Amino acid sequence: MGNKTLAIIKPDAVGDKNTGKIIDMILEAGFIINAMKMIHLTKSSAQGFYAVHRERAFFNELVDYMTSGPCVPIALERDNAVEEFRKLIGATDPAKAAEGTIRKLFAKNIQFNAVHGSDSDENAVKEISHFFSNDELINIK
Ligand code: ADP
Ligand code: MG
Repeated sequence: MGNKTLAIIKPDAVGDKNTGKIIDMILEAGFIINAMKMIHLTKSSAQGFYAVHRERAFFNELVDYMTSGPCVPIALERDNAVEEFRKLIGATDPAKAAEGTIRKLFAKNIQFNAVHGSDSDENAVKEISHFFSNDELINIK
């Protein structure tokens, strides 16, 4: 299992002043931050990041949402990072997310769902490189 994943604290959660609470939950769950920044995504960057969803009915709405304000991408490390992070955030739809998960606590609905987490080791590597160059990533030994 890979040990890297990409999280994004999405614009709704940043706007709701939940950034600190979410980072605290991530650290308490045993993840190590390799890199982090606050960035206001451009339309073309958001379209590129979510290119796999370009045929979906919600694609334009998703791009509008992700460009609506600053977000906080975070490159994370821990054992089995992708699966463990998706467990921590809960289901895409907060109505279906387990109690105590980040989305259960902070998401508004299936669209404005507070956080992103990579869905595979392969995508984690691609998504981390969307936001961070190699020399921005802390290499923990
Ligand atoms: P996840 O973020 O859990 O991996 P997806 O990759 O399926 O979920 O979707 C990407 C993002 O698109 C979701 O996190 C959410 O913000 C948005 N989204 C997903 N499904 C819908 C939907 N049915 N309507 C509106 N937005 C959606
Ligand atoms: Mg996804």
